[in-house]
Amino acid sequence: MEPSVCVVGACNMDLVAYVPRMPVIGETLHGTKFQMGFGGKGANQAAQAAKLGTATTFIGRVGDDVFGHQFLDNFKKVGIRTDHVGVVSGVSTGVAPINVDQHGANSIVIVNGANDHLTENGPSLPPSGNQTDCALVLVVQLEVPLAPTLAALRLARAHGVVTIVNPAPAREGLPAELLALADIVSPNEPETHMLTGCPVDSEAALRQATETLMRQGPPCVVLTLGARGAALAVGSRFEQVPVGRTPAKVVDTTGAGDSFVGSFATLLAHHLLASATPGEQPRATLLRLLSSPHEGWTRLLACIRGANVCASMSVEREGTQCSYPTRDQLPAGLF
Ligand code: ADP
Repeated sequence: MEPSVCVVGACNMDLVAYVPRMPVIGETLHGTKFQMGFGGKGANQAAQAAKLGTATTFIGRVGDDVFGHQFLDNFKKVGIRTDHVGVVSGVSTGVAPINVDQHGANSIVIVNGANDHLTENGPSLPPSGNQTDCALVLVVQLEVPLAPTLAALRLARAHGVVTIVNPAPAREGLPAELLALADIVSPNEPETHMLTGCPVDSEAALRQATETLMRQGPPCVVLTLGARGAALAVGSRFEQVPVGRTPAKVVDTTGAGDSFVGSFATLLAHHLLASATPGEQPRATLLRLLSSPHEGWTRLLACIRGANVCASMSVEREGTQCSYPTRDQLPAGLF
């Protein structure tokens, strides 16, 4: 078996207009620059996993339009399996028109388009349990409908696949089943605050937030803390993990969280495989690691340190997926 990651999520084409100031209602304004970029949290996370050389499957939907075909071409270029990317006719690919003013402030509109057409009964949501489709780690976020997201999590649980829930973008009123089916939940600070109601401004508060999250199901929490790095919590154990390297220059933090989640999932898949006993399912390996105070903690910290490195490299360059490091650009010793 090889380390493999499956991501269920959204494809959104970012359409970025740089403007001197935000337009007011009814106004036509001339922008100074325009850029397009492949986005959507799921597509970004899959791109980061694939750029690290891991077998990566993406499950999602694009429209039968120019953006949809560009997404498919880009997935193939990056090395992502597209067998489960459906092309929906009659709707647009997801788009995100974004205005960025001269101070870097932005306003974003997301049109979900084809992303909303991912259904529970869509063609063979992996991990399907057969040899070729079965991933070690499944990653989901909250940009596609909940029904297929939950269906994928249930399927993963049934097949002993490890699940990572990245509860982004933050929203209220989530079904309890979402976190109950998460082996690892990985929110950023605003998402942590929204999910728990806890403040996130001190180590004690973060610790309390992770305990609140673990009471909802996941036995492991990985918090991302922006420039402060990340934190790991398992049971009553908690540790903050600083980034460990200073970016040469922070140019653009867009998509840093997705670089972190995609690389964390990749590194976790490698560690699961390295630690698995013959015939052991990935989730059983994870649960064994979580109950092992030394090996498990060491391996999870190594995943977080590596993900911090990848994400901190991504902030040194403009753009999202194009700013993500490939495996040969990483310092030695992360894998
Ligand atoms: P999101 O992008 O979802 O808001 P965070 O802001 O928590 O997520 O960032 C995710 C990860 O990106 C962090 O855990 C860290 O590894 C890295 N990161 C973010 N901002 C910086 C920064 N200014 N310097 C170095 N690393 C950063």
